[in-house]
Amino acid sequence: MIQVTLLSHTPNPIRSLYMAYRTCYSTLTPQQVATRIEDDRITEAQMRQFIEERLKTGHASPLEQVAFEFGISGVSRAFSHQFVRHRVGISFEQQSQRYVTYKEGEFPYTVPETVKKAGLAARMEALFGDLGVLYEEMVAAGVPAEDARFLLPNATNTNFKITVNFQALLHICDLRLCTRAQWEFRRVAALMRAEVVRAVPELGKYLQPKCGELRMGYCDESLADWEACPIGRVRPHREALFRLYDQYRMGQLAPLRDEDWAAIEEKEPAGSGEPY
Ligand SMILES: Cc1cc2nc3c(=O)[nH]c(=O)nc-3n(C[C@H](O)[C@H](O)[C@H](O)COP(=O)(O)OP(=O)(O)OC[C@H]3O[C@@H](n4cnc5c(N)ncnc54)[C@H](O)[C@@H]3O)c2cc1C
Repeated sequence: MIQVTLLSHTPNPIRSLYMAYRTCYSTLTPQQVATRIEDDRITEAQMRQFIEERLKTGHASPLEQVAFEFGISGVSRAFSHQFVRHRVGISFEQQSQRYVTYKEGEFPYTVPETVKKAGLAARMEALFGDLGVLYEEMVAAGVPAEDARFLLPNATNTNFKITVNFQALLHICDLRLCTRAQWEFRRVAALMRAEVVRAVPELGKYLQPKCGELRMGYCDESLADWEACPIGRVRPHREALFRLYDQYRMGQLAPLRDEDWAAIEEKEPAGSGEPY
């Protein structure tokens, strides 16, 4: 089973973020800002409001000053290969298949729901059982774990301890909460999000797919993917926005209709304007 636990985070994320942003926009030194926070001249509410406004802008580097540490377990190597493609603002430690030898060839693995639904789980598990037997034979014959692991499938489970900064986590959620992302990655991203929402709701709410109302608000995937997306219809596709912009620029927008004007002007319906 996939488990994601927020192990630790920057002690006071709101204060850290406020300090980072404030330093950019103030004549005060960071030390003076810290003193004002300590003696309550700058309140928690003010810090939150200031951050909220900054988060509407593209000034993202202060977000790198807040970090989250997660323990992630029971994920497949199919997932982990995708996970470690994220290169910026995230540090990984992953269970080794060189230094960890699976005892008696029993390696943990994930069977996807689609395989179960197709009625093929038993055959998949039987195959993994055979692989485990051969793995054990290899280890007994002196083959090191780093070579015996060549037998192991993508389904083999693994564990991570990671540290990720808030900016990188936003980016990961942009991509991996999108319904285009693989189900396992979506699940891990959703669990990371839930953990941050629980610990720091003011920041956690920003962890959304890129079409989220606090992110881009529209879809930049292909039109076919947008059409296939379960939430595609509630978010505009990028092409619709461009088309609208082009029509506007070229003066080709359909004029407002009579009924639109009636709604704007709140005209009384015909016949209802007679004197009492
Ligand atoms: C739906 C989906 C399908 C995918 N399919 C495939 C696939 O078929 N094959 C495949 O190989 N990968 C695939 N990927 C992985 C994808 O190509 C990226 O490697 C992965 O999502 C990491 O994204 P990133 O590079 O934006 O993130 P990070 O590595 O965390 O980088 C964050 C940002 O930093 C910047 N950056 C990082 N490194 C550089 C650099 N060297 N130069 C300039 N800017 C940089 C970029 O703006 C980048 O967006 C897929 C990803 C998704 C979400």
